Amino acid sequence: MNVVLFGPPGAGKGTQAKELAKHYTIPHISTGDILRANVREGTDLGIRARKYMDKGELVPDEVLIGLISNRLSEPDCVSGYILDGYPRTVPQADALRGILEQISKPLDAVVNIEVSDEELVKRLSGRRSCNCGESYHIAFNPPQKEGYCNVCGNDLYQREDDMEEVIRQRLAVYNDKTKPLIDYYTDMGLIVNVDGAGSVESVFSQICRIMDQYK
Ligand code: ADP
Ligand code: ADP
Ligand code: ZN
Repeated sequence: MNVVLFGPPGAGKGTQAKELAKHYTIPHISTGDILRANVREGTDLGIRARKYMDKGELVPDEVLIGLISNRLSEPDCVSGYILDGYPRTVPQADALRGILEQISKPLDAVVNIEVSDEELVKRLSGRRSCNCGESYHIAFNPPQKEGYCNVCGNDLYQREDDMEEVIRQRLAVYNDKTKPLIDYYTDMGLIVNVDGAGSVESVFSQICRIMDQYK
């Protein structure tokens, strides 16, 4: 099962991908999580990426293409993968095609999670994140104990890029650079739209109905 979870920032890609990865026992590959881990560890990649991430800009394509190529060649991807946050530009999508051809793991589907801009702003501004990759929402998906992660117990924090002005910038970057990929993947016959407005559970069951076809 080889899928991309596609959609604007705040659509619920990370939330769904975590559950799907458990349900289907395939890896969840989030470029945002990988980049943030590099920022925390202070690697060269992290130092370079942070300048873009804090402003809500995209990290340059060549950085992301190298990163995803390495990740997809790890052994856990033999059974499939769920990509979250990649690709975000046409050059990234072109590179992905080449990489997947080489490892003979072509995409089954690009699941496009649709959510209105107004709802995205609400979701992102109330998001609280954990270093383990879990995310919560202060109103829509609160942790069992306020301020702490259900899974690992660590303190939750608000991402720098989840501040109102940066949210607007990220949505603008999405519309300009990433949204054109909907046409790109429609032309390849891979897009499947999902209504992302409902509860976490209802979105999950819609996606499972799609993914079950590729088991
Ligand atoms: P969200 O889940 O809210 O959409 P991500 O965690 O996917 O955010 O990404 C956070 C930031 O990391 C992006 O705003 C961007 O700076 C950087 N980033 C992540 N993935 C990519 C990518 N494929 N190409 C370029 N930059 C990326
Ligand atoms: P993305 O990875 O697409 O940026 P996240 O999965 O991090 O999005 O979700 C963004 C925010 O919205 C988080 O605070 C999350 O708890 C919340 N959220 C996710 N799915 C839903 C949903 N179906 N309804 C309400 N809130 C949601
Ligand atoms: Zn955690």
